[in-house]
Amino acid sequence: MLYTCGHKIPDSDSIISAIAMAYLQNALGTEAKAVRQGDVNPETQFILEKFNLDAPELKTSFAGCDLFMTDYNNYTEAPDDLKEANIVGIVDHHKLGGLVTSAPLDCWIRAVGCTNTIIKEMFDYYEIEIPKDIAGAMMCAILSDTVIFKSPTCTKIDTKVTKALAKIAGIEDFKAIGLEMFKVKSQVEGVPFRDLVKRDFKNFEMNGNKIGIGQLEVVDLAIFDNFKDDLIADIKKLKSEEGYETVLLILTDIMAMGSQILVASSSVDVVEKAWNIKVENDQFWLKGCLSRKKQVIPFLEPAYS
Ligand code: MG
Ligand code: MG
Ligand code: MG
Repeated sequence: MLYTCGHKIPDSDSIISAIAMAYLQNALGTEAKAVRQGDVNPETQFILEKFNLDAPELKTSFAGCDLFMTDYNNYTEAPDDLKEANIVGIVDHHKLGGLVTSAPLDCWIRAVGCTNTIIKEMFDYYEIEIPKDIAGAMMCAILSDTVIFKSPTCTKIDTKVTKALAKIAGIEDFKAIGLEMFKVKSQVEGVPFRDLVKRDFKNFEMNGNKIGIGQLEVVDLAIFDNFKDDLIADIKKLKSEEGYETVLLILTDIMAMGSQILVASSSVDVVEKAWNIKVENDQFWLKGCLSRKKQVIPFLEPAYS
């Protein structure tokens, strides 16, 4: 059995890519099963319900298993026992993260906006038809990762593939579905602060420092007005509880096209140096910032070296 599985703290791309990849592998004659490393978030739940797909089963240990990694290629987001698994393949759109394998593997890594974009190209390459429901879910994953094409990570290939998937799924107004999805994502009231901080949270190691960066993408930042201070207090608590050098929480306004970044750091000067800004009241505004991958990490990492 080949397991297809996305990263820890799964996002929509990571869950849907595992489902699409399992379908493709089965169609190619390899018995495959999609699994997930963590809870399904509300946005992904919306996509699964919309296209009548089941959430993959939870699986966190892969020792002795064949694994096709989707939407990540580093150890920090991988299962803890990845070194004891047999990595059969990787499909991903992130920077390389220092992975070592013991055997040759099938590697599909491209600088596009979403892993599902690459998987669509794999279906085309192998001349396998994509079922309607899976195509619709893949389309949503691309709209999520590219913030409905607004993110600087979005390429012409992503928009082209999205349109092709919408056609297969029989969807005309895909941007409307994208917006509906981001509205679901924007429902943050009443959710425990730590759950919000960790909803889309990634760990990084920058020059020996433990860094955690969360991101919440919403249609209007005003929804945080009543509890932004609570979120700041929570990332400070998280920082001391789990020994982080810096924890950032990126509050992205997809309409205003920018992010309010909340800061808990032992080296606020490094954060200020990264963007040449001033951190006031544990936060700063970053105009135009939509992408953690392209507009946050590449600035913070060199500031630490
Ligand atoms: Mg992802
Ligand atoms: Mg992705
Ligand atoms: Mg994302």
